[in-house]
Amino acid sequence: MLYQRSSALFEAAKEVIPGGVNSPVRAFKSVGGTPIFVEKAKGAYLYDADGNRLIDYISSWGPMLLGHAQEEVIEAIQKQAEKGTSYGIPTALETAIAELVVNAVPNIDKVRFVNSGTEACMSAVRLARGYTGKEKIIKFAGCYHGHSDAFLIQAGSGAVTFGAPNSPGVTQGTAKDTLLARYNDLASVEELFHQHGDAIAAIIIEPVAGNMGCILPQDGFLEGLRSLCDQNNALLIFDEVMTGFRLALGGAQERLGIQADVVTFGKVIGGGLPVGAFAARAEIMKELAPEGPVYQAGTLSGNPLAMRAGLTTLELLSKDKDLFERLDDKTEKLHLGMQSLIEKKGLPHQFNRLGSMVSLHFTETPVVDFETAALGNNDHFKAYFHGMLDRGVYLPPSAFESYFLNDALSYKDIEFTLDAFEDWLKSI
Ligand SMILES: *Cc1c(COP(=O)(O)O)cnc(C)c1O
Repeated sequence: MLYQRSSALFEAAKEVIPGGVNSPVRAFKSVGGTPIFVEKAKGAYLYDADGNRLIDYISSWGPMLLGHAQEEVIEAIQKQAEKGTSYGIPTALETAIAELVVNAVPNIDKVRFVNSGTEACMSAVRLARGYTGKEKIIKFAGCYHGHSDAFLIQAGSGAVTFGAPNSPGVTQGTAKDTLLARYNDLASVEELFHQHGDAIAAIIIEPVAGNMGCILPQDGFLEGLRSLCDQNNALLIFDEVMTGFRLALGGAQERLGIQADVVTFGKVIGGGLPVGAFAARAEIMKELAPEGPVYQAGTLSGNPLAMRAGLTTLELLSKDKDLFERLDDKTEKLHLGMQSLIEKKGLPHQFNRLGSMVSLHFTETPVVDFETAALGNNDHFKAYFHGMLDRGVYLPPSAFESYFLNDALSYKDIEFTLDAFEDWLKSI
């Protein structure tokens, strides 16, 4: 495939945008080469500036669960746009989407909308600190909760892709309030509670991690966190920016049957427009301004265009009883198909999958946390990424990211992907 126009566009972008991109992973740094520039997308496909058609396995990193440019969502956005795109004054639309979220998600009474997953997680932590009157939080190495200072301590996603987990610009003062534990290692969390006893306001975790590849919580791990929080008067924050409205309508809480105290959302909840949200029981949410003293605000929060896209998407999800089953089945077909091909070839590999999230690490060691995720052979990953791209399949351009399947993807597309994978395996 040719990427001439994309290369030229990338060169022009680099002149005026740092690294040519507005979010680091897009730059292909960990896989090398030039990022493709997208011209348009429809259903399961991306069309790049050189006219190549690519099957999309990132779905905008999650949001496009129904596929790109879904008709009803686009129509709803168009209709709303004609009525104005921002007022800074309440609308009934915000109540409608809030009601839907509160009904769909277990254990929450109220929800506040923001503009990104980063904002949602940042605000959730402030709320937890305000509610408990304590200052420290526990996060897990390799989990990503957006780019707010408190989370850039061994963060996943783009932050690990660049091997610079601790970003300059994050102060020591901030870093000292973020305690680090190991994913799937309850003892590491117990130890932190032992040392810092009364100072811990909350644990924040991706209940199914998706920012070091896909990593599943082992039996008893999340249950253990739940009881540690209960014993220590700390809040359990589930960062469901990735898993919310993807693993089930009620997210990981519903799928895994574990209750969090505060839940954060992003990605799918905006249906492709910039939306985040955080939610909890009424007794916690009442601490939030203007009801309570914990300040949080946003000029474009609850933006009507974004709310309309989110509401239409969530309505479609809640009406479609087989949607999550369909997504699971397609993801399973992809996983098992690839697994049998790679086994024949004898390449070291680990697949992790839950629902429509899946990832492939090139290692023999089971991938259960950040350390084991980092064992993957990145030369294999680079060759695999570019091999698939050349064959018309767009995968996440980093081994530390999960694939996100969308409902527009057909079984034929999966067959095509498996053929591409077989062909790539033959070529190496
Ligand atoms: C993407 C992501 C975020 C950050 O959301 P943004 O909208 O990119 O700010 C936070 N947490 C998780 C788990 C994510 O995957």
